[in-house]
Amino acid sequence: MTEGVAAIIWLAGLVAWYLIRLPYQRRARKIRVVAARRSLAERLVLPAAGIGLSLIPAFYLATGIPAFADYRFRPWMGWAGLVVELLFLALFYASHRQLGRNWSITLEIRDDHRLVTDGLYRYVRHPMYSSFWLWAIAQAFLLPNWVAGLAGLVGVGMLFFMRVGAEEAMMEKSFGDEYRAYAARTGRVIPRIF
Ligand code: SAH
Repeated sequence: MTEGVAAIIWLAGLVAWYLIRLPYQRRARKIRVVAARRSLAERLVLPAAGIGLSLIPAFYLATGIPAFADYRFRPWMGWAGLVVELLFLALFYASHRQLGRNWSITLEIRDDHRLVTDGLYRYVRHPMYSSFWLWAIAQAFLLPNWVAGLAGLVGVGMLFFMRVGAEEAMMEKSFGDEYRAYAARTGRVIPRIF
């Protein structure tokens, strides 16, 4: 595996992410929103994730900037990146399918919102965010540059830590004891083992 192939894998992952999301985004426009949380933090998290997972790495691939942060690429990094990228896409796809019409790009409760507790959601409350962490880890393996490689982890970290508390509070407000019981038996992004 060469550095060029690793860069192509990163780019293909971004295209696949877009294509997987597109039909859900289209459908979501037609489903009425009954409650939304649009705090300042919530407005900042999507741009932050976008900058870290696409703008900074795309700029790096196009220009080589910041070159001072480059390190030597080794083939195993590309292979590890490929495996993690595929896991990300599989999890991202499955979580969209399972969340179905309940999906939103921001924190929203929709008309006839159902609490999904099966499939991946049986084990973790945020499998889509688990997939985002994998995406950021794949990027770190695929791009041999401290800034471009790690920008995704910073972006996803901001998205996750600034949003997940508010999301769970919103779900608890809408679903009450049903959500509290669900939260008690599941992990956030990693399945609960004990
Ligand atoms: N945090 C989840 C979902 C991300 S999409 C995950 O990582 O898989 C964000 C929207 O999904 C939120 O606005 C909320 O309305 C909805 N949501 C989150 N968990 C849900 C669940 N268990 N069942 C139904 N909808 C859920």
